[in-house]
Amino acid sequence: MYLIVGVSLVKSSPSVALKGKIHYPGIYAVERQAMYKTINDVNVKGMRVLVRADLNVPVHDSSVSDLTRLERLKPTLDRLTDEGARVIVMSHFGRPKGKKIPELSLKPVANALSKVLNDRSVAFASDCIGTAAKETVSALGQGQIAVLENLRFHSGEETNCSIFASELAELGDIFVNDGFSVSHRAHASTAGIASLLPSVAGINMQAELTALSSALEHPKRPVGAIVGGAKISTKLEVLGNLTERMDFVVVGGAMANTFLCAIGVDVGKSLIENDMVSTARKIIANSDNRGCELVLPSDVVIAPALETDVFTDVVKIAGVPKDKMILDIGPESVSGLCAKLTECRTLLWNGPLGAFEVPPFDQSTNAIAVTAAKLTRNGVMTSVAGGGDTVAALNQAGVAEDFTYVSTAGGAFLEWLEGKQLPGVEALSGTGK
Ligand code: ADP
Ligand code: MG
Repeated sequence: MYLIVGVSLVKSSPSVALKGKIHYPGIYAVERQAMYKTINDVNVKGMRVLVRADLNVPVHDSSVSDLTRLERLKPTLDRLTDEGARVIVMSHFGRPKGKKIPELSLKPVANALSKVLNDRSVAFASDCIGTAAKETVSALGQGQIAVLENLRFHSGEETNCSIFASELAELGDIFVNDGFSVSHRAHASTAGIASLLPSVAGINMQAELTALSSALEHPKRPVGAIVGGAKISTKLEVLGNLTERMDFVVVGGAMANTFLCAIGVDVGKSLIENDMVSTARKIIANSDNRGCELVLPSDVVIAPALETDVFTDVVKIAGVPKDKMILDIGPESVSGLCAKLTECRTLLWNGPLGAFEVPPFDQSTNAIAVTAAKLTRNGVMTSVAGGGDTVAALNQAGVAEDFTYVSTAGGAFLEWLEGKQLPGVEALSGTGK
């Protein structure tokens, strides 16, 4: 069974009647994604279409080790080229901070993109603006693709310099933003350019916005979130926004230790954030006021250290020895959570429930991943997950494909969960040129 903190800690619950309703702190939530156009709304035949993508992929020894982002870009590029557009792909890569750093060239990524596009030829411009870019673009025929060199070789990209944005805009007739994962930054290629060209969302961007808004803004209820990971401090705003919107929020991972501390549990030598204990208390109180059930583990897996092949044990939360650390939630908590999920129609997940990189502390994360995947496959639940380590954990459990949507967006995904307006998405709602 799970410990329901909202019930056990707070005696009066003045706003229980609010439960089940969505509370919009402002109008942003309904406005966040409603007003943009998509590539269905524009005629691209013969047009020069500038696509902002996220080609910031992991590269080792000049070869791309994870093609996910390129595969997600493929539908947009296929559609645009099928319709006879001249397609110009632009992206940043790494952090060159305005300097031309040969190791951060997008050339190897352009080659990998060509492979993902079934060996279609992909031209490459050695600079993203100026003569090199113009010549590459003017050589493009209908249905052909070029990739521009790293946008961040120019400092104007990150400063959202209007001159740099105009130089990019000169290369195209239409702007397509297909990089949700870069849209939390107001850069020249995400925000600046959108005020200069007719601007629409690509297929990947649309899929991401639809999935996130179906989980956060218009969910089928009951809707719950699992928030795990190492630190409350990195997810304070996420917790604040989710307790505002969800029917329940399950806190797992090391951040649950700080919550346990806040309700007077001795967590031994577990990882905790001492300066976040009072914040955790506030989150508990706020959740109760908002009618959101905050759920903490009732049992945990403990060990002397975060290492493989250590002696592990399962104890109730009241029984954590002083010289042990909590590294996963326990089996009783897992079965309580699985039961809860069977009643849940929408699930949002960010953050592993335990130190999943080191077996056996991956057990709860795997078990919950498998259960959520099965409920999704059976059509019972919509499941949306995101976060660098969460995606790694779902891949490790072999169930990422079964989730309704897995966001690879990292920072942008977290900012969306925080309830923020993303400048690159907001810019699509403007009228453009
Ligand atoms: P995400 O990248 O999905 O947003 P985070 O970066 O917030 O997730 O957290 C993931 C990290 O949290 C992992 O490295 C994992 O090992 C760690 N973690 C989870 N539970 C524990 C725990 N009980 N003790 C120590 N580390 C933990
Ligand atoms: Mg992480």
